[in-house]
Amino acid sequence: MKEVVIISGKGGTGKTSLTASFAVLEGVDTVVADCDVDAADLHLLLEPEVIQTDDFFSGKMAVIDGDKCTNCGLCAEKCRFDALHFLQGQYRVDPLNCEGCGYCSLVCPEHAIFMEEQNVGVWRISNTKAGNIMVDAALGIGAENSGKLVAKVKQEAKKIANQKGIDLILVDGSPGIGCPVISSLSGADFVVLVTEPTLSGLHDLKRVYELVKQFKISAGCIINKFDINRLVSEQIRAFLEEKQILHIASLPYDESLIQALTMGQTIVEYNHNELSRTVRESWHQVRQILNNDKK
Ligand code: SF4
Ligand code: SF4
Repeated sequence: MKEVVIISGKGGTGKTSLTASFAVLEGVDTVVADCDVDAADLHLLLEPEVIQTDDFFSGKMAVIDGDKCTNCGLCAEKCRFDALHFLQGQYRVDPLNCEGCGYCSLVCPEHAIFMEEQNVGVWRISNTKAGNIMVDAALGIGAENSGKLVAKVKQEAKKIANQKGIDLILVDGSPGIGCPVISSLSGADFVVLVTEPTLSGLHDLKRVYELVKQFKISAGCIINKFDINRLVSEQIRAFLEEKQILHIASLPYDESLIQALTMGQTIVEYNHNELSRTVRESWHQVRQILNNDKK
């Protein structure tokens, strides 16, 4: 089984619309994992029909049993995170400060504190309009541990691929270089770096490439809207050459992409213009690399 991760150093580079195009081109032969759990939006283009939803629990938080608590204040005195306060006649836990260390539950003389697992989001399995099975997730508002939720999405995607005998997982990775993207990259066979020709785009590409390098994963790069700034596009190409990163394609700016997105379609469904053709060729190239890798 092969795993391709599409990432960019920052949001807004066209990473998700490219992933959706690749998913449409591959159809039933791939399981799609939307690992951008902080702002999942692959569903907007793939029109999934949800077939399973599950809660995701991660981390613990202290809970005080008001019937047992005698308001002695020992827990608040011992908590190093300032997460226990006397409010409206009783000690209460501040959910934003509680780190779930469990110390208060050990020191409470009345055994009035227990640790409760936190429901931090949901993950789902769906059938998409392109015939893929998709796993995605949504992190609850203000919830942390998105790296763990990303790991869960990937784990479920792999399980489905194994069960169905599907040999490809297409991962829409998280933006940035933090914990979620590290989790997205873990176990990948090939990474598609998506960038755009701006100085911040180049800067973020360099940062995310450093991360990919640490994982020793083969990578290729797609420069999106290369013609809006040919000078920076050339600088990106020079960087790719210097680091021996495969330049998969440079995609032209094309207003029909906006029209396609407005209609909830990928560019490869919407028309057969140069942009659509280049996206198809890009995916063909990545597929070829994966196929050669099997031999
Ligand atoms: S230590 Fe236990 S009994 Fe004392 S205030 Fe805290 S929860 Fe209540
Ligand atoms: S679990 Fe730890 S952080 Fe949370 S309230 Fe208890 S002592 Fe404080």
